[in-house]
Amino acid sequence: MNLYERFARFKTRRILKRYALPDALWQEAINSLPFLSCWTPAMLARLREQTVLFLCDKTIGGAQGFCVTPLIRTLVAAQAAVPILVRGLGWYAGFKTVILYSSDFISPAEWEDEWGIVHQDNEPILGEAMPAGPVILSWQSIHNATHAGKALMPEDDLPPTNVVIHEFAHKIDMLNGDADGNPPLPPGLTPQIWRDTLMEAYHDFCAHGTKAPYRAIDPYAGESPAEFFAVLSELFFVAPDNMQSIYPKLFDLYKTFYGFSVLGGRDQ
Ligand SMILES: [Zn+2]
Repeated sequence: MNLYERFARFKTRRILKRYALPDALWQEAINSLPFLSCWTPAMLARLREQTVLFLCDKTIGGAQGFCVTPLIRTLVAAQAAVPILVRGLGWYAGFKTVILYSSDFISPAEWEDEWGIVHQDNEPILGEAMPAGPVILSWQSIHNATHAGKALMPEDDLPPTNVVIHEFAHKIDMLNGDADGNPPLPPGLTPQIWRDTLMEAYHDFCAHGTKAPYRAIDPYAGESPAEFFAVLSELFFVAPDNMQSIYPKLFDLYKTFYGFSVLGGRDQ
């Protein structure tokens, strides 16, 4: 270990000690999230550390007067920390802010058409990852995926989703440019293996997505390769059994990409 690595490790240890999350708050947060119930104590301990590091690096603020409580902050950070559990905060470089609306919101983003006319969409959305900007999320959508939210919708048989993981997967994808389903790859993956495996599954989903067993996947995955990557990232963490049985090759690819899986432990 060189001097820089030793200093970085010392700094991390100091942050973890100084900004440690209270036990009761952490327990309440992880007990609220159904998909964490099968995580091992070692994985949860690592998630707690990544959550603290995330909270020290990012600001989570409320929009239009929405009050962000310590539990809400912790719930958002704990889910955002899942995709970077092994890879670390470097995957969330280039932005500092997470903004929460109380419910689905109109995107502040504007876009220009081919004639140079600027538009703003007026359909409410659950979340948005702005290029080189903040991640914006609807608290209502986050709450719907907690135990408390699910209790309000006992008949809900929609595919499992997670808006926090979805938007942060887009952020990872944007590390090397536009969100296009081609994120920067860790050692062990080549662009060709990544593209071939992802696109094979994407085309298969576009052809068969309305039939069983594909109905376990949010149909929004068929919008584009970028959305397919983000939606399948949700499934990889929230319902790994489903993903492994529907797309085993893609599941193994994601396991190498994210560096671990709940079903098979750490990959590298
Ligand atoms: Zn998306």
